[in-house]
Amino acid sequence: MARGWFGGLSKDIGIDLGTSNSIFYVRDKGIAINEPTVAAVNTRTEALVAVGTDAKRMMGKTPAHITVVEPMVAGVISDFEVAEKFIKHCIEKIHRGTFAFAPRPRTIVSVPLEITEVERKAVIDAVTRAGAREVRLVTAPLAAAIGARLAVQESYGRMVVEIGGGTTSIAVISLSGIVESTMLKTAGNVLDATIQAFARDAFNVGIGRKAAEEIKIKIGSAMPGEEPSELSVKGRNMLTGLPKEFTVTDGAVREAIKRPVRAIVDAIRTTVENAPSELIADLYESGILLSGGGALLRGLDALVAKELTMPVRVVDDPLTTVVRGTGLLLDDDSLLASVESGSTGSLA
Ligand code: ADP
Ligand code: MG
Repeated sequence: MARGWFGGLSKDIGIDLGTSNSIFYVRDKGIAINEPTVAAVNTRTEALVAVGTDAKRMMGKTPAHITVVEPMVAGVISDFEVAEKFIKHCIEKIHRGTFAFAPRPRTIVSVPLEITEVERKAVIDAVTRAGAREVRLVTAPLAAAIGARLAVQESYGRMVVEIGGGTTSIAVISLSGIVESTMLKTAGNVLDATIQAFARDAFNVGIGRKAAEEIKIKIGSAMPGEEPSELSVKGRNMLTGLPKEFTVTDGAVREAIKRPVRAIVDAIRTTVENAPSELIADLYESGILLSGGGALLRGLDALVAKELTMPVRVVDDPLTTVVRGTGLLLDDDSLLASVESGSTGSLA
């Protein structure tokens, strides 16, 4: 009884546990938490020291008794204990100041396109142990399509490309299900790694992941822009070990990230080629929707449009599309039921 009562005070929550960012959407309220999926843990006591942006800032700067952990890799849980603590912290934070002393929320959680039964179970267990009384799963590109307010239930082909930190998911959707899909581990983090390699090879300078990401966000592009841009970057001279500053141009960064960008474009092309002929006309009409943080890479939409000769659109606020989709599903049980069967591909 007591549990039912506390459960009744708990909020319904849509959760996007991303490799880079985790977002929690509270029903009737909107986005409540949007933080990097990073936790700093005291290795002696196993207690959380910091979460999200605060923890990300500590990366590479911690004393021996603190480790900074990124509990999700390529969209799946890689450190179960830390993932559970991270989620529990977020759920409790959402309920702070309410009368739900032991929050038992209903949750809808997005999961990657290709995920094993063991990985699905790990997500359900972690969110349950973090306090949820119900955990329903939805495939990320379907959640993105719903977040973008596409009418996914229709018998009509639509294409969504979700580019996150760890994975790119490409899906053709019709009748609330995924008809054809490709998932690749070439996504935001790989672009950052190629920029790090470029700084090392071209300038003999070592830079951190965060610096590489900053270069990508500030001047990275998939196609030449209207005005050339450049950025001054500080790193470590690999020969002397001392600090060194150098200047990178947008053209050099474009060249550096060319291969992974090409891999994403090629995977989109293959997915279109493999889509059933009955849906091709729909796809050429509805076009391709780009979502996820990677969709913000300048000129990526133009490059995909040029290479595939199809209309391409970047969804508004691409970093939150997936979680907004889970939020809409909290309000729509019949849509949730239809995408759940579409997500698992069962014929039940
Ligand atoms: P995930 O779902 O895997 O957590 P997100 O959808 O949150 O990923 O996207 C994070 C990725 O998007 C990171 O690799 C980040 O560097 C990248 N990103 C964010 N903003 C931009 C931008 N303006 N240009 C290019 N990439 C970006
Ligand atoms: Mg994501």
